Amino acid sequence: MIEKQVKDTIKKYHLIGKNDKVFVACSGGKDSTTALYLLKKLGYRPEALTINLEIGEWSKRNLENIKEFCEKEKIPLHVVEMKNEFGFSMCYIRSLIQKRAKLKNCTICGTIKRWLMNKKARELGATKLVTGHNLDDEAETTLMNFFKNNANGFTTMGPKTGIIDDSKFVQRIKPLYFCLNKDVTAYSKKMKFPVLYEKCPCSSDSFRRSIRNELDKMGPKAKRNIVNNLLKILPDIKKSYFPNRKLRYCSVCGEPSRNEVCKACSLINIIKEK
Ligand code: AMP
Ligand code: ZN
Repeated sequence: MIEKQVKDTIKKYHLIGKNDKVFVACSGGKDSTTALYLLKKLGYRPEALTINLEIGEWSKRNLENIKEFCEKEKIPLHVVEMKNEFGFSMCYIRSLIQKRAKLKNCTICGTIKRWLMNKKARELGATKLVTGHNLDDEAETTLMNFFKNNANGFTTMGPKTGIIDDSKFVQRIKPLYFCLNKDVTAYSKKMKFPVLYEKCPCSSDSFRRSIRNELDKMGPKAKRNIVNNLLKILPDIKKSYFPNRKLRYCSVCGEPSRNEVCKACSLINIIKEK
């Protein structure tokens, strides 16, 4: 079932073209590992990209699992080390930022991860970057954006993210878009993938958790309805909120940005401020 859903999603939304070089952003979790496995099985010759965040034992075990999986499946693996990129682990960078700004763990980690993933994927020649987001993730994020009146949040939604084609921006795609979280878990367990099923020990998003709990009570149909309705209005939301479709480049790092300085550099600037 998962396999067919992934195949149909790629076809229906034209996620991957003949000349695409596909990279999968691998966290070591069940979703990105399943995506990597299925893309290989479907003949897309994916490569794996992982960021070693150095969140203690948790990162260590994830990295071991990814290495084991890629070796077994003969998939090229690229490991990006936080310490080589920034000189520090994610935990340390986060603690420095949080001394000066009241920001959630996942906000800081997510921003830096996305910045690094785009940069590294592009440097490695990727034309598509797969993430493991599934139907539950998308339904939750949809509601969170509405509850928080966060129109910007919609730019990363849909099976293909983004609003503009830009040579410095590697389009992110979500082949597990219509797969239920519970089905991915069951598949990953059935296939005996070497993955951790517990979430990141630094995970701090209580708002997402409470929405997840409510949606779980409502069941799969409610989740599908939310996502299917989102897809009906998403093109109009993207058009009306971002009419001039221009992406700028960050004046600090040169990466694609919607503002003068990108979000990642704004975070790093907090540390540098005296
Ligand atoms: P998250 O934001 O942690 O829910 O992760 C969303 C997606 O980002 C995952 O499904 C992965 O595809 C990717 N991802 C998360 N963490 C990492 C990581 N450390 N390295 C590479 N990709 C990651
Ligand atoms: Zn920047």
